[in-house]
Amino acid sequence: MAWHRNIVIKTPEEIALMRVAGRINAEALQTVQRMVRPGVTTAELDAAAEEVIRKRGAVPAFLGYPGPYPYPATLTVSINDELVHGIPGERVIQPGDVVSIDCGNIYKGFVADSAFSMVVEPASEEALRLLEVTEQSLYAGIAKMHAGNRVGDVSSAIQRYVESRGFHVTREYTGHGVGREMHEGPMVPNYGRAGRGLRLRAGMTIALEPMVLVGTPRTRVLPDQWTVASADGSLTAHFEHTVLVTEGEPEILTAWT
Ligand code: MG
Ligand code: MG
Repeated sequence: MAWHRNIVIKTPEEIALMRVAGRINAEALQTVQRMVRPGVTTAELDAAAEEVIRKRGAVPAFLGYPGPYPYPATLTVSINDELVHGIPGERVIQPGDVVSIDCGNIYKGFVADSAFSMVVEPASEEALRLLEVTEQSLYAGIAKMHAGNRVGDVSSAIQRYVESRGFHVTREYTGHGVGREMHEGPMVPNYGRAGRGLRLRAGMTIALEPMVLVGTPRTRVLPDQWTVASADGSLTAHFEHTVLVTEGEPEILTAWT
């Protein structure tokens, strides 16, 4: 799979703006993370994230995003078997839920894109293990994001981390370059072969995002036409950071403070 068009090497000025967008995204996600508890609706989380983004002079990146119909919210909130693209609404968070929240904002023309998952108490052993493996697979991938490495080095690090622990990565949704557009090249799958694919260069900004499923790599789209869930109803999790490739260590632009 190769999607190498539209790869943009960012200038120092553009990177400075992406750093601001990244901090805004982190603040929005940290704000909603503190709100997640039984009884809260996903629409309340969405409103709080939008408020942070607009207060910082940015705009939501997902709102109006083209799809089966324009995406109607600031966040995607995906619960339990829902992997990504869950639409916020009147759904109420329940004890034991695994909640995956993805956010994007545009600051002065540049997009940041990041996500996290968490479990509401009482947490099952399976949920805790899934969250740990998914988050650590993101860092295993980021650790390979050095200039001169290839996309396949990053992809295979994620896949090996996840599959060696008995879980699955989706083949149907991938990480991606990010900048003036939310989805730029290169496509960065969560599976692949080391040593293959495009070579990473300093100045690339990539949203790396392992999407992990307990029981199957297969997904299905729910009747709302946006929400993507595991095909077998098993638990899922999703972590994402927007990362800058440098000549040295990769820089996580959406790091939490
Ligand atoms: Mg995202
Ligand atoms: Mg993304």
